[in-house]
Amino acid sequence: MIVVTGGSGFIGSNFIIDWLDRFDEELVNIDIMTYAANNDNLRDISKKNNYNFIQEDICNYEEIFNILKKYKPKAIFNFAAESYVDRSIEGPDIFIKTNINGTFNLLKASYNYWLSLTEDKKSSFRFMHISTDEVYGSLSLNEPAFTEKNQYLPNSPYSASKASSDHLVRCFNHTYYLPTLITNCSNNYGPHQHKEKLIPKIIKNALKLNEIPIFGKGQQIRDWLYVKDHVDAIITVFEKGIIGETYNIGGGNEKNNIEVANYVCRLLDELSPIETKKIENYSQLIRFVKDRPGHDFRYAINSSKIRKQLKWEPKETFESGIKKTIKWYLKSKF
Ligand code: NAD
Repeated sequence: MIVVTGGSGFIGSNFIIDWLDRFDEELVNIDIMTYAANNDNLRDISKKNNYNFIQEDICNYEEIFNILKKYKPKAIFNFAAESYVDRSIEGPDIFIKTNINGTFNLLKASYNYWLSLTEDKKSSFRFMHISTDEVYGSLSLNEPAFTEKNQYLPNSPYSASKASSDHLVRCFNHTYYLPTLITNCSNNYGPHQHKEKLIPKIIKNALKLNEIPIFGKGQQIRDWLYVKDHVDAIITVFEKGIIGETYNIGGGNEKNNIEVANYVCRLLDELSPIETKKIENYSQLIRFVKDRPGHDFRYAINSSKIRKQLKWEPKETFESGIKKTIKWYLKSKF
């Protein structure tokens, strides 16, 4: 059995669906259910006998430790986090609490639970920490993509809190020998993403014929990965990764925000043709708005370590993944 934290959010829910599809095992999802969580994400899964949900805060040591003692997981996958950069600029406190103190608390509870295991179970136990490429800071146009050896240079309260959590995970492995692994992934897109994030926001606003706000001139570059490829990479690292190591995960799909917005709009023109005469195509709804303070210009991931050592490859191209994503949003009620 495994424990997943933050499983009712975007990536965690995609992970749970995939995991229970692959393995006939018990799973406990611990989620405090912030604004980012959505019960609909796991509506079908919640009927399964091997799915358990506990509404709890990863900062609550006693409860987390009791859950671990009761369910005796072979692994913990930590997705629980505050994850939106703009929110971290407006109110950083909760990012420090959840991402730093929460991860520390989870590590402490996991370590004390791990100490109680037999030697066999101790060596097969894994603490999987899901992190972001944003910890490496920002790149200029011609700089090489981030490798696992890049210095951490986080710029926003979000990325700084994630960077701190990665350091804590590393130290629990180095000092206490807790079997941990860290994954640092690029920007995800796909089903179940909260509507405040870039791609769902473009789709939602376009379908409502509302303006589509794009920061600055939309020149910021991100490396986009379909969420199900991210999930597959996490499971690959869990199964084959070396304890104490970090693995960068990316799709090799560098696009700037205005390219993404125009591409999504063009696909929507095809998949959900405009029925009004007010505009001819969805791209006409795009509006440039005041840039985010300290906005990182470019993230790019060099994922050759996971590709070469663990033989992971993404299955979707940007074009195929975006098409699946748009079709999913057109069918869902979001
Ligand atoms: P999300 O915001 O959609 O989901 C986070 C989940 O964590 C929510 O369900 C929320 O209720 C839960 N949560 C928050 N605080 C909690 C607490 N104190 N206790 C228990 N649960 C709590 O985030 P996401 O996009 O699914 O990201 C998941 C992880 O992946 C994060 O750690 C994020 O840093 C990382 N990541 C995200 C992306 C991306 O593009 N979305 C890319 C790389 C890495």
